[in-house]
Amino acid sequence: MCGIVGYVGGREACPILLKGLHRLEYRGYDSAGVAMVDEDGALNVYKCKGKVSDLEHFLAGKELGGNIGIAHTRWATHGAPTDKNAHPHLDCTGRIAIVHNGIIENYRELRSYLARNGHTFASDTDSEVVAHLVEDAWDGPCKGDLVAAVSNAVSRLEGSWALAVVCADAPDQLVVARNGSPLVVASTPEGAYAASDVTPLASVTAHVIQLENGQI
Ligand code: GLU
Repeated sequence: MCGIVGYVGGREACPILLKGLHRLEYRGYDSAGVAMVDEDGALNVYKCKGKVSDLEHFLAGKELGGNIGIAHTRWATHGAPTDKNAHPHLDCTGRIAIVHNGIIENYRELRSYLARNGHTFASDTDSEVVAHLVEDAWDGPCKGDLVAAVSNAVSRLEGSWALAVVCADAPDQLVVARNGSPLVVASTPEGAYAASDVTPLASVTAHVIQLENGQI
């Protein structure tokens, strides 16, 4: 088991994400990463093998601004525990970032299909196909609608997932989806949160909603 944290709202996302990852450390993991969309619409992604504290050292001096972001601790199932296989994963354009807990069972077929259609892959994970499926949907029938693009992508998946997705072209939208792997969400006056379980949200609110399987 490993972890996801997401935030969108009026506060700086990065400190919230890192604090949330620390709270999820008890679940076990081999690598960690964050992605934030900043005020200029740039999507900044940082990830590395090792502990959340290693990620924090890696973040020193980097561009960490933005009121929206996603974060992940990985427990590798497909692909070695390396920097490149750490989440978040990006689409081909570097405008869409995803984090995933679980296993995409039909990732081989999806990866072949996507590669035939011109997508290039930067990792050995099963998860990366999700970023490229969202890209396909965003560039096609779901242009400008991140919820529809994630819905379209998820409809092609088999397996288990908790997903969080951000897009530089939709800088006020954090989209999450769940099937099998746990995910909770919460809304407060300061913003909306998502997490693998209630521990990162306990200091924020007592009102947490457990996503049902199939919900986005
Ligand atoms: N199957 C994915 C991977 O190996 C996600 C693992 C996880 O749940 O952390 O990257």
